[in-house]
Amino acid sequence: MNLARQIEQYLPQQLLELIKTISREANQSGQRAYLVGGIVRDMFLGYSNFDIDLVIEGDAVKLAQKIAKVSEANLTIHPRFGTAKLSYSNFTLDMTTVRGETYAKPGALPTVTPGTINGDLLRRDFSINAMAISLNQSNYGELIDPCQGKSDLESHLIRILHPKSFSDDATRIVRAIRYEQRLEFKLEPQTAQLLKQDIPALDTISGDRIRHELGLILREKHPEYALKRLSQLGALHRISPYLKGNGWIAEKFEAARLLNKPSQLSSLYLCLLVYPLHERENEQLIQRLNMPTKLARELRDTLCLKSQLYLLDKPTTKHSEIFYLLHEYSPLAIQTNVVATGLPVACSNLKLFLTKLRYVKTTLNGEELKRLGIPAGPELGKILQMLHRAKLDGKVKTRAEEEKLALLLKP
Ligand code: ATP
Ligand code: MG
Repeated sequence: MNLARQIEQYLPQQLLELIKTISREANQSGQRAYLVGGIVRDMFLGYSNFDIDLVIEGDAVKLAQKIAKVSEANLTIHPRFGTAKLSYSNFTLDMTTVRGETYAKPGALPTVTPGTINGDLLRRDFSINAMAISLNQSNYGELIDPCQGKSDLESHLIRILHPKSFSDDATRIVRAIRYEQRLEFKLEPQTAQLLKQDIPALDTISGDRIRHELGLILREKHPEYALKRLSQLGALHRISPYLKGNGWIAEKFEAARLLNKPSQLSSLYLCLLVYPLHERENEQLIQRLNMPTKLARELRDTLCLKSQLYLLDKPTTKHSEIFYLLHEYSPLAIQTNVVATGLPVACSNLKLFLTKLRYVKTTLNGEELKRLGIPAGPELGKILQMLHRAKLDGKVKTRAEEEKLALLLKP
């Protein structure tokens, strides 16, 4: 099957030209290049995809360096892994050197055989991701489909490539459900049966890898679908007994989408996932997923604020009280509480902080207070805060009123 015409129609012009350049450069240096994975799948489905994966029989790093020179790309290379990333304004190209199998000979160094595209495809997760398109000049556009991915794509099936696939790498359980829900496909019956059977293998997966796959789910358009399905299968529980993919999550994710920019959604979703947890449960989750310090802090902040919200749930709460209760929390923790809380008054106070109060500043600064004769030191800091509180509560409005109050407060 030749897809040269389909590639022409599918890829944006700039990308198409780049692909042709890669094809030419590879040919000249005796290497072979292939489009693989998501891009091939999405081309057949007619979905756009701007993260393009290429597999190179040869040396991806050298080829990428050449391509970076002739096009305006930002190049990142990992020579040890034989991978390179070319970033352009609208898309990225990941280039990987295909690796062969490693055979450990007794008493000798392991030998790596030169890899082939077929070998690479056979090591992938699902048949629909195990297709490639040749960019070689001898057979440009030819589909390479050793696992009948095209046929599974047409039958809307997610199929693993061999029975030990999930036990070899249980992140594929999470990946299978992500594609099943995104594409509205079905798990092929044997795949479904093995997936259920191999759920305990999730215990063998490191925190970093599980977190990465969960992160990919949280970047889906409707992460709640995959979470619900993983929950029904018992896979979410296996990852952490505290994670839920229930109706509350679905309702809050929907609310989050209405209120927030898409770029901020995935971290907000994660905070919403931990919202129902107790602090101790959150700590266990942080540990299981080996959360980076910054992210862990956001999650702790979210729950800490949740426990303080009753203080904001009175219509009589002063603006200064709202400000000084919230100003040390991260905007993400506050935004999560806006979406998640069932306390309506607290919710509107949180919104008031995010939209107005956090921007309120006094007109006078420390220097100006010193000029009014207030000595530097802790006292000055206290007076500044009192001015700020008065400003927040509407007790002073103009510079003159601030000066008057400052002089009154002068020790
Ligand atoms: P999308 O980014 O649209 O979700 P993708 O196919 O690009 O889809 P990635 O997660 O970016 O998915 O992975 C790139 C490719 O790497 C996949 O197409 C898949 O073939 C392969 N892959 C990723 N993870 C695994 C895994 N755990 N086991 C085997 N192959 C994998
Ligand atoms: Mg991808």
